[in-house]
Amino acid sequence: MSKAEVVIIGGGVVGASVAYHLAERGCSDVLVLERAASLGEGSTGKATGGARAQFETDINIQQSLYSLDFFRDWDFDCEYDPKGYLLLAASERQLAYLSRTGERQIELGYEGVHLVTQAEIEAMVPGLNVSDVVGGSFGPRDGFINPLAVLEGFLVGASQRGARVLTGVDVRKIATDKGRVTSIVTADGVIECTNVVIAAGAWSARLAASVGIDLPVTPLRRQIVWAHAPEPLPEDLPMVIDLQDGFHFRPAIDFTHGAAAQDPRAVMFAWPDPEEPPSFATSFDESILDKVGERAYHRAPFLAGSKIIYEKCRAGLYENSPDHHAILGGCEVEGLYFANGFSGHGVMHSPATGRALAEIILDGEASFLDVSSLHIDRFAKGELLHETAFI
Ligand SMILES: Cc1cc2nc3c(=O)[nH]c(=O)nc-3n(C[C@H](O)[C@H](O)[C@H](O)COP(=O)(O)OP(=O)(O)OC[C@H]3O[C@@H](n4cnc5c(N)ncnc54)[C@H](O)[C@@H]3O)c2cc1C
Repeated sequence: MSKAEVVIIGGGVVGASVAYHLAERGCSDVLVLERAASLGEGSTGKATGGARAQFETDINIQQSLYSLDFFRDWDFDCEYDPKGYLLLAASERQLAYLSRTGERQIELGYEGVHLVTQAEIEAMVPGLNVSDVVGGSFGPRDGFINPLAVLEGFLVGASQRGARVLTGVDVRKIATDKGRVTSIVTADGVIECTNVVIAAGAWSARLAASVGIDLPVTPLRRQIVWAHAPEPLPEDLPMVIDLQDGFHFRPAIDFTHGAAAQDPRAVMFAWPDPEEPPSFATSFDESILDKVGERAYHRAPFLAGSKIIYEKCRAGLYENSPDHHAILGGCEVEGLYFANGFSGHGVMHSPATGRALAEIILDGEASFLDVSSLHIDRFAKGELLHETAFI
């Protein structure tokens, strides 16, 4: 295989979605290259599978609403389960923030998102400690998806429409001539191509650097603690997030077995440790257990005494951009496109991302949604976006 119209570097959920959406538009000379032996071994296989439209910026809300509709209506079952996201405010200031952002979410089409009182929160999640919670917000369309199923759905759909996928191919650099992409260089040889999409997750910056572009994507380890609660979790437990410090927990699902195999006592918790330095480390560091446990048992005393399931605890990489928003679209090198910097939201935004990239490559711009605010130029122009609700 030495030629393709579009080469996509990275076989995670984002690369697969771009391939799917290109192929769906009739552009089937698409080649996805993944350096690992199998697909989904990057961040996609580590994700917890949360999906929400409770964001602050219009672009995040719009990408989410589009993607939630996609997950719901897709003919492929990605195990979308709208159990909701419950955001907890610890101060009137945080509650005002939820009220303001909730109003904007409704204006943009999010039906049903609403503020909840302390008493309502207690009723929604019996046993939750709400003594330091002044209220919150609940998004009923937010919920869970299976990241590996989303990946599979895109891959199957792309392959059925003619896209090709190769694993075990390490792309070393992108080659250009007179400011335009001509090929990519792999460990095994050169592949000629007209377009290249960098969808290599946390590892993308090095590829952009091969054509002299500073792609501001930084890897950051994120750890997931998996445990068994002493009793079955409250029924219909949503994702519960403390806005104060980002601690969150949800029912745990073993994605390799699917939602059907869900253990009613299995719980996942996570906390964005502010001391974690940027790195490519993906080993699970047990020193996080005490820090997460302290927050878990404070917020949800019914989790006290949970048994840690060490073999299911894991760590993966967030691919952070400076303003915690994706970097989508082309650049000064003709034929080179980015689908990067998802900052922990790449699975939930994968449908909107794939469609946006397909439209940008084939039509010059995305028409289903204006994603121009996500162009890489915003960093040089100082037009960074501002989102506070990231975890
Ligand atoms: C613990 C954790 C929890 C998360 N939870 C959520 C969540 O609840 N919801 C959500 O939406 N997101 C979540 N995320 C973020 C989400 O996983 C990522 O945003 C998403 O998976 C990014 O997809 P991707 O395809 O861009 O990257 P990846 O899945 O990392 O795929 C990139 C691929 O590129 C390959 N690659 C890299 N370099 C090369 C090269 N030179 N040549 C060939 N191949 C290469 C890699 O091997 C990798 O497979 C979470 C992340 C972590 C770590």
